[in-house]
Amino acid sequence: MDGGRMALGARIGLAGAGLFAAAAPARAQSSFASATSMSWDGVLTGIFLGLLLFSLVYNGVFYRLLRERFLIWQSARTLSYFALVLALSPLAMGPWLTPDSFARQVWICIFFDLSVVVSGPFLRRYLEPGTVGPRIRRLLGWPPMLILATTPAMLITDCPPAYMALRNMLLLAMLGLCAAAVIMALRRGSRTARYQAAAWSGIGAVYGVSLFHDIVLGRPFDAFLFLLFPALGLEVMLTALGILDRLVRLRRERQEARAQAEAMRIIAHTDPLTGLPNRRAIEESFNGDPPVAIALVDLDHFKAINDHHGHDVGDRVIFAAGVALGSGTALAARVGGEEFALLFRGPAVAVATEAERLRQRIGAYVQQMVPLLDRPVTASMGLVHIGRGTSFGAAMKSADINLYAAKESGRDRVVFIEAA
Ligand code: GH3
Ligand code: MG
Ligand code: MG
Repeated sequence: MDGGRMALGARIGLAGAGLFAAAAPARAQSSFASATSMSWDGVLTGIFLGLLLFSLVYNGVFYRLLRERFLIWQSARTLSYFALVLALSPLAMGPWLTPDSFARQVWICIFFDLSVVVSGPFLRRYLEPGTVGPRIRRLLGWPPMLILATTPAMLITDCPPAYMALRNMLLLAMLGLCAAAVIMALRRGSRTARYQAAAWSGIGAVYGVSLFHDIVLGRPFDAFLFLLFPALGLEVMLTALGILDRLVRLRRERQEARAQAEAMRIIAHTDPLTGLPNRRAIEESFNGDPPVAIALVDLDHFKAINDHHGHDVGDRVIFAAGVALGSGTALAARVGGEEFALLFRGPAVAVATEAERLRQRIGAYVQQMVPLLDRPVTASMGLVHIGRGTSFGAAMKSADINLYAAKESGRDRVVFIEAA
């Protein structure tokens, strides 16, 4: 299997996108020789595997909290690294997976390619929305999976050159795509991209030095694997930091969005002039917890106030009426120009007294708050008890009939007749 192992090393690195070896077969031989002798002491493997396990737990905990999909993809990357490191280590893994076995080569190739492939969807979800153009985003989705179709190229002896060229092209495209995504996001001010660029810088440096050795010096870079694993460790740790930073920001954004939605909800349910709940709010309140009675209140001859004193004064009168009605035990809402609704909860016997007390308060409050009026302001009220299962619309209609009756019979009074 030694020939296969050498070829494997050579091929993984061929495109310049692989992590583990360089272009020349001699280079590959030295990489994998060192994999089993020089750099692969158990301590290093143990530390790296521990780091990967920590990263897995870390992603899992955050996923439970925030359900962000990039955490799943990052876990997939970490698992691929884990499997790769295990396979590259001199650990005996049973009779079928001895360090020199073909099965082990298959394992290495599959998990190497998987770790490259899932970096695409990871990056796509991980970089902040809007920091990568839609074309690159789309390309980072499923197209990297095509690389898996060329994994066998690594394992076939005498692989057809066209097949290998296809693999190299796909790997290079993937490298270019990831670099383009990170650079584009960096330009658009992405913090996440800054972490990712730093995370990948170690691997890039090690690989760059290796290529320099291969191409310029013409001899393999012996410390390749020895430096590559600390570089991978740095990648895992800096990515973890980047994820933490991203999650903290996501959490803050979500809290802000929730606070904003709540503020919008309050605005949508509040009358801007009086600060009382509006019709929508009172309808929701009615449906959520049906009251025992409902009243409609309308200021008498309000148009005359507008006509004599102007709209501004009219507004101040509406505001004072709102303060008067809102200060009782009933839930008060402004449902029209100078029209209010009251929902009574509490004991039904106390409703009529409380309703009348509130109605009379209007005049007193308006007098105090808008003293320039020449005549006292009065209000008419239609009050009804609410039977079981009465809808908001039906209740308002009954109250309106009573209000109309109050207006018809001379205003400045409450009419409280049960609906038929
Ligand atoms: P009635 O006793 O029959 O209720 O007489 P009214 O003059 O109050 O009659 P009506 O309900 O027809 O008139 C209400 C007026 O309220 C008409 C409208 O111009 C005015 N109005 C509606 N909304 C506002 C508002 O927000 N501010 C002010 N100042 N006036 C408003
Ligand atoms: Mg009126
Ligand atoms: Mg009116």
